Formats: sequence, structure tokens, C-alpha cells
Amino acid sequence: MGGIGLEHHQSSENGVKPTYFTAWEEHARGRDLLAHEYVHSWNGKFRRPADLWTPDYNVPMRGSLLWVYEGQTQYWGKVLAARAGFHSKQQALDALAYVAAIFDYRVGREWRALKDTTNDPVASMRRPHPWRSWGRSEDYYSEGQLIWLDADTLIREMSGGEKSLDDFARTFFGINDGSFVPVTYTFDDVVEALNSVQVYDWATFLSDRLNGHGQGAPLDGIRRGGYELVFTATPSEYFAGSEASREETDLTFSVGMVISAEGVVTAVQWEGPAFNEGLTVGNEIIAINEVAFDVDHLKRAITGAKQAGAAIDMLIKDDDRYRTISIEYRGGLRYPHLVRQGSEPAYLDLIFAPKD
Ligand SMILES: [Zn+2]
Repeated sequence: MGGIGLEHHQSSENGVKPTYFTAWEEHARGRDLLAHEYVHSWNGKFRRPADLWTPDYNVPMRGSLLWVYEGQTQYWGKVLAARAGFHSKQQALDALAYVAAIFDYRVGREWRALKDTTNDPVASMRRPHPWRSWGRSEDYYSEGQLIWLDADTLIREMSGGEKSLDDFARTFFGINDGSFVPVTYTFDDVVEALNSVQVYDWATFLSDRLNGHGQGAPLDGIRRGGYELVFTATPSEYFAGSEASREETDLTFSVGMVISAEGVVTAVQWEGPAFNEGLTVGNEIIAINEVAFDVDHLKRAITGAKQAGAAIDMLIKDDDRYRTISIEYRGGLRYPHLVRQGSEPAYLDLIFAPKD
């Protein structure tokens, strides 16, 4: 068994930890897995990007439409998980906040268009990325999720709440009922189906987001959905649970790194405070402000640096060499949340609500 979620047309293979059902609250992070793979029966297997369908193994598969295949499935996986009660509404909001923050900090957006990341399965085959925030990765999954939220809320706004991405799904996937013969589609087919739900310049909407560059994640869907991404010094339960299940501490949005429980650096935010002191993946934090490393001590030091206006001194072990660094960061701990903002209706509330 592969240990991941693997879509099939009629029955997906879903690998999770043995405590997935018994320790229900601990595994909120992976709770959308079944919904995600279920959606793939329609989005990916039944309706399939034309360049991913090949007549035989001599024709290479191409991933140019993976932002639909995986991006929209990622969106529906989260939405259906909330509607079905796999996630509480708060967990759904907190999960979305985490994704929004990750892509808001994805500085590689400056040089690499989202569309180009659809080459990652071929180019890097899921090998570890030392500089994910700069190099990007299979970002068409979760940045794709943000784009489909943008589209869903736009359809709702333009149609005065009459239409939504649910109607697109019904139109696009709900054909040839009972058939298991794949029906391929192109970019133009996606645009045409969107237009049949709500007339708009969807071709430009999509290509701007697929080929565009620049700072900051596409957060229009969150804003139009009635929420705003904010950072506070306290993690959401979802965020803390996600850290626990990965056995990591995620300080991406403060000092700009992720560390293991032993203090080994597992990711560094490109041009963040830790990056600027030369920290890199594999470095080990031995001591902070002359006291031996532990995670809580590091968090207290980050908070203390804010209060005292001081730098954070660290003793770093890099293979057989030791060095001391001084991280110039005084912003305190920062964790992403969504807060209600703007007037009614909050489309995000409607999107995550169970349907009659
Ligand atoms: Zn998938």
C-alpha cells in the first residue's frame, strides 16, 4: 500500500495513520482525504484533462490542466469535508487560513507562474525541496484551491447568490450518468462551462492567475467570502494539531523556519529572518540565548525579543562546525487566522455549510 491517497475511478486507495479514526481530533489535518479522493472519481478520472489522457504508454502524459484536476479537487475536498462534518466550520476556516498564509509567503511567485508548477511531477517527482518558498513545488494543488474559491465567490457575487461553483460541477461533471468512460476536456471547455453558469471573461480571469507573477497569494476569494487573513501570537487548534501530526514546529510566519522536535531545521523561508543569518535545512539549533534548545524556550525567546526589542542569539551546529548567529526579528510569534470582515452575506459561511 502506498500510504497516501491515490485516486481511482471507482474506489480510491487511502493510506492514513492507524489512529486516524480513534484519535479523531488529532488528525484534523488529513480529514479531507476521503472527500478529496472521492471527488477525483469525477474530477480527474471521469472528466480528464485532454493531455493527461493518452492512448498508450508511448505517449507522454502532460499536466497543463492539473490546476483543475488537483486544484479544484483540493477545493472540493475541503468544502465537502466541511459540509459533511469531517471538519467543523472553525477547522475549515483555520485550514484555509493556513493555506492562504503559506501562499502569501510563497516568494517564488515572483518568478515562477503557477501554471509552470504543473511540470513539477515530471521535473522533480516529489523529491524534497530545500527552498520550497522560492522554488515552489506542486503549488497547483493549494494555490489552485484559492483560485477556485475566488471563482466560486465571484459567481455567487455576480449572480446575486443564485449560482455557485456547485452549478459548474453539476454542468461539467454531471454528464453521462453511470458511464465510466473518461470524457476529456481542454482549457476552452472549462471556460465554456463557467460561462454557461455565469457569463464573465473567465479566460482572462484564469490566465491572469495561472500565468501572473507578483507578491501575495490570491486572497480575493477570502475577502469576497467575508473574511480577512490576520496573524496573532496564538495558533489555532487546527494549526497546532497540524504541527503535532507532522512532529514539527512551524515558525514560517515569524522567524521564517520550520524545525523538528529535536531542533533540526527542516525548512527556511527565502529571504526571511533565519535565511538572512544563513540558516539552512539540516542545521541544528543547540542553544538559544545561551540556554539549551527546546521548542518552548525558542518560542519564549521569540516573544521576549519582541518585548525587549532585542535580537535572538542562537548556537548552531552545522555538521561538525559550530557558529553563533543573531536573528534580527522582533515581530513576535505569528499564526494565521481568518476573521469575519465586511457585510452580509459571508459567502464562505454558505460554502462550508451543509446543503439541504
Ligand atoms: Zn488529488
